[in-house]
Amino acid sequence: MTSSVERTCGDCTLCCKLMAIEALAKPANAWCQHCKPRHGCAVYAARPAECADFTCLWLVNDLLDERWKPNRSKLVLTTSEDGIEVRCDPGALNAWRREPYASDIRAWAAEGERNGMTVVVIAGQRLILVTPDREFDLGIVGQDERIVREIEGTKVVGARVVN
Ligand code: SF4
Ligand code: SF4
Repeated sequence: MTSSVERTCGDCTLCCKLMAIEALAKPANAWCQHCKPRHGCAVYAARPAECADFTCLWLVNDLLDERWKPNRSKLVLTTSEDGIEVRCDPGALNAWRREPYASDIRAWAAEGERNGMTVVVIAGQRLILVTPDREFDLGIVGQDERIVREIEGTKVVGARVVN
């Protein structure tokens, strides 16, 4: 996913629920106290830098069509160090299994298997590594932990979490 497009958040405020904001001690998956859902941020001019710097992938990538708009898909996409993270709205933890999302996620996983990119779904506190033909439910993964993949050729055949 490489192209870019000028979009605005409009009536979407989903990242203000799904993302943790360290400066506000706001946990993931809980509305920010400053958010007016579907309208925006009540402290916009004074919002923390991590909010001002945040853009989800839908906002900047026109390969993700309108169906991927986060408040419609219930999914917020971001990049990670080595791939893509798909965060589910806690009110729709299976949103990623619906179409067209499931097929797109599998396609990215297939592309990732060829070029070393990981595709991870975060559903509530669970972290799921997705491969073209399997999913590895890694359970709750702490901030000081990382995923180690077991690879045969280019194929991911196992995954575990280590400190
Ligand atoms: S999830 Fe994306 S589109 Fe929605 S408010 Fe956040 S940055 Fe904007
Ligand atoms: S401070 Fe504003 S932009 Fe940041 S999470 Fe809260 S409502 Fe969203």
